[in-house]
Amino acid sequence: MTQIADNKAALEKKIEVAAHEAGRDPESVRLVAVSKVQPDERIETALATGQRLFGENRVQEALERWSVRRETCPDLRLHLIGPLQTNKVKEAVALFDCIETVDRPKLAAALAQEMERQGRGLPCFIQVNTGEEEQKSGVTPAGLPDLLRACREEYGIDIRGLMCIPPQDEPPAMHFALLAKLAARHDLPDLSMGMSHDFETAVRLGATFVRVGTAFFGSRVS
Ligand SMILES: *Cc1c(COP(=O)(O)O)cnc(C)c1O
Repeated sequence: MTQIADNKAALEKKIEVAAHEAGRDPESVRLVAVSKVQPDERIETALATGQRLFGENRVQEALERWSVRRETCPDLRLHLIGPLQTNKVKEAVALFDCIETVDRPKLAAALAQEMERQGRGLPCFIQVNTGEEEQKSGVTPAGLPDLLRACREEYGIDIRGLMCIPPQDEPPAMHFALLAKLAARHDLPDLSMGMSHDFETAVRLGATFVRVGTAFFGSRVS
């Protein structure tokens, strides 16, 4: 209990300091606890500390971890932060409260159709591949305007913001700054950026959601 409670308190303090340094309201930054691969007792501990916002990167794993807890914890909020295949859209729309990884028209179309079918219009983010890495999902910065237009005009999806995962071998600041610039240009209020090792930089550059796994829960190696 104490370790995770201490981690959470320390993270919140660091977020507060970084926000103040940037002249931002710390309340405008939400801490998403990334619970992928974490053992059950750590999840229970996190819930006991009052944490309610969690991120998961795989639909199947998230279903196993959260579908029962969802029933008992009405204020739980789950963000999908990993790539979504169209054959998992039905489960994803039923389980999650926000999809952060919309990155192609085919996925946007499938999400729109499923949200309509379930009567569950989720806020979504578009994932941008700011480093234009071959293996990484996300739309390229150049492809963003077309995808955003399609989401808004053709599919009627409520796009609230942008999300990115910078290349591992580059300083993240330029990627965060690019994401912030793209969001401002397109009137998008939310920015999901920053992980355990760079969330303070992300907060200084405008993050409204930071996705923190290991610095919250401890190492994922069990
Ligand atoms: C795993 C993961 C995180 C959290 O990573 P940490 O380094 O453990 O904080 C954040 N975002 C995404 C998309 C992830 O897959």
